[in-house]
Amino acid sequence: TSKMKKLGVALVGLGSYSTYQLAPALKDAEHCYLAGIVTGTPKKEKEWMEKYGIPQSNVYNYDNFDTIANNDDIDIVYVVLPNSMHADFSIRAAKAGKHVICEKPMAVSVDECDAIIEACKKANVKLSVGYRMQSDPYTNEVKRLVKEKPFGNVQYVSSDAAYISRGNPGQWRLNKSLSGGGALVNMGVYSIQSNIYGVGMNPISVSAQEFSTRPDYFKNTDETITAQMEFPNGTVAHMFTSHNANANRLFVSFEKGWIELNPCHSYGPLSGRTSKGETIAYPHKSQQMLQMDDFAKHILTGTPNVTPGEMGKRDMIIVEAIYKSISEGGKQIS
Ligand code: NDP
Repeated sequence: TSKMKKLGVALVGLGSYSTYQLAPALKDAEHCYLAGIVTGTPKKEKEWMEKYGIPQSNVYNYDNFDTIANNDDIDIVYVVLPNSMHADFSIRAAKAGKHVICEKPMAVSVDECDAIIEACKKANVKLSVGYRMQSDPYTNEVKRLVKEKPFGNVQYVSSDAAYISRGNPGQWRLNKSLSGGGALVNMGVYSIQSNIYGVGMNPISVSAQEFSTRPDYFKNTDETITAQMEFPNGTVAHMFTSHNANANRLFVSFEKGWIELNPCHSYGPLSGRTSKGETIAYPHKSQQMLQMDDFAKHILTGTPNVTPGEMGKRDMIIVEAIYKSISEGGKQIS
């Protein structure tokens, strides 16, 4: 496989995730590399060109972005912008004939997810969501234990994804028009994902509650949300997400034991254990590298797309049901 062509990736939006995670991971990836950049900040252009050996011809801004269609060096456009910009740039990337990776949350509404999926289908390009956990070995061990049942059937799952936000109150994550929501869309999507692979199927309903203790800081985005999901096999799962507490854990209880990952949603190394006293441990690898290589292999060789657009849309359906349960009360069908 090492003789296979490496696909060229263009990162759109050179903020902290692109700078500290994705660009370094692309240096180590086997099937893709950093070929281009799209930025609205001119001073980043020279820095990135020098650091990553990117030619001027592979540098774009948000206005001339669509001309990337004419650039054969770029196979994949990776949208790493504030959430409310994901749909626009993912659709423009598809129209430019490029495969698309769209960061999580996929968009700020189910309708936008549909529009992205539709645009990629129409342009005949591949689409994935930046769910790095789906390429992580710890996550895949959870999936295996759920499927192969060495501890019997799953009976209860609980997951937490939360951190304390104390930064600049003007940051885009706290501005609903750019973020589409608060803790739920930023961190809650990890809990939604964990509960789903923890149970091994999609939920049929959600009930949710919202809590707020620092309304002066969290002016128009949700601070803390808990939710319960109901699954077709009768399993119940709980989730906790917050911008006002630190929690990072997945607990799966089976008929004959349990497994726990803690931490479970961070960049790693992660850590896991079972009721038998065993540890779950793997040599550390960049999740971002594994994720981008998985997508490149999908494009190059037709291996499964582990994070298709439909998965991002499914999670946004659940996000919308959670917000609906908070505003209207009761169980909402997701
Ligand atoms: P940052 O705020 O650090 O960076 C966002 C970048 O987007 C900016 O640096 C800027 O890049 C560009 N941008 C364009 N318009 C705006 C605007 N109006 N306001 C702010 N920035 C703008 O965010 P992150 O890198 O942390 O997050 C970006 C995306 O990645 C989000 O969707 C987030 O959810 C996702 N993410 C995913 C993670 C994961 O683990 N999968 C982890 C972290 C983030 P430029 O100057 O180049 O124009």
